[in-house]
Amino acid sequence: MSRELELYDVTIIGGGPVGLFTAFYSGMREMKTKIIEFLPFLGGKVPYFYPEKIIRDVGGIPHISGEEFTENLIEQAMTFDPTVVLEQQITKMKRLDDGTFLLTSHNGTNHLTKTVILATGYGTLQSVKLDLPEANHFEGTSLHYHINKLNSYAGKHVLISGGGNSAIDWANELEPIAETVSVVYRKPDFSGIESNITKMKNSSVRVFSPFEMIELKGSNGQISSVVIKEVGSNKLEEITIDSVIVNHGFIIDLGSITEWGMVMNNGTIQVNHTMATSIPGIFAVGDIANYEGKLNLIAGGFNEGPIAVNHAKLHIAPKEELKPIYSTNYEPLMKNN
Ligand SMILES: Cc1cc2nc3c(=O)[nH]c(=O)nc-3n(C[C@H](O)[C@H](O)[C@H](O)COP(=O)(O)OP(=O)(O)OC[C@H]3O[C@@H](n4cnc5c(N)ncnc54)[C@H](O)[C@@H]3O)c2cc1C
Repeated sequence: MSRELELYDVTIIGGGPVGLFTAFYSGMREMKTKIIEFLPFLGGKVPYFYPEKIIRDVGGIPHISGEEFTENLIEQAMTFDPTVVLEQQITKMKRLDDGTFLLTSHNGTNHLTKTVILATGYGTLQSVKLDLPEANHFEGTSLHYHINKLNSYAGKHVLISGGGNSAIDWANELEPIAETVSVVYRKPDFSGIESNITKMKNSSVRVFSPFEMIELKGSNGQISSVVIKEVGSNKLEEITIDSVIVNHGFIIDLGSITEWGMVMNNGTIQVNHTMATSIPGIFAVGDIANYEGKLNLIAGGFNEGPIAVNHAKLHIAPKEELKPIYSTNYEPLMKNN
């Protein structure tokens, strides 16, 4: 069965910033590359948690929004046309007799590869879902759990449910873009950074606390209004809303990767100076990789990716030379200038 599958040189599990840059470099080393990502979009924690934030600690980029950074990373990662598989969580790994790896996703899809680079972060990211029976009618259309593009809310009546840092940040970021922003939080006091709470309260954002959503109204996937109730009383309000963003926390789960037999270290994977895990042919980079002195910075992951790729190449072809390869000297890229 596995013989019918297309064989890749390297399969990168996780399409976060580090997985994306690793895919670019893997293309430069002429490796047939596949990226497999659990989420329906690429970019990992950056678009998931902070698309609106300004990143300032990547060399050569003084400041860039998470959203633009992600767009750039995706463009760069696609330079050598890697295969991209979205909405699959890799749950199983089997080392076959010929040394290749058979990866299986949660839905039973198989992937065959000579080497694996784990760029999974701390695991798959899943938002805590809104606990209302009608919620699934609106999910993905007018009910969202994170913001990918702030401008997609331009001119809309947005309701944000939640009271933590992200909910407050989103309210402040959307306030000048959306037509109206309402924040609904079930507790009387917000738990985010004080100065951000003050900014929100002093702006045009309508704050409802302690309130909770009790009904979403609308049709054909489009919310038209939301009924909210004051916690501890029977006071109800119905507000005209066309987009709801829920921020009730999230679950990060590494799943069965912890059971693949690699040496683990405090929930992360122990690697050596070549980014190799304890299973030959499997490497780890980014937040999931652990070694002495490790810093969980995107910039650090951008060095780990090329190291892993070069050693994955050596794993496949032990006589290959270990070389850095500069993009400035790389013939196929020079043609694009
Ligand atoms: C609010 C916040 C602000 C931050 N600000 C900065 C900053 O300014 N500068 C900085 O350097 N760092 C910052 N960080 C940290 C930075 O985001 C991480 O270090 C970086 O995202 C790690 O990248 P990664 O690719 O290793 O993992 P991730 O970004 O976590 O991506 C991993 C991807 O792998 C996928 N995945 C996991 N398991 C599987 C599986 N089994 N199958 C398929 N897919 C899977 C996940 O869905 C995810 O998309 C910040 C983090 C947060 C939360």
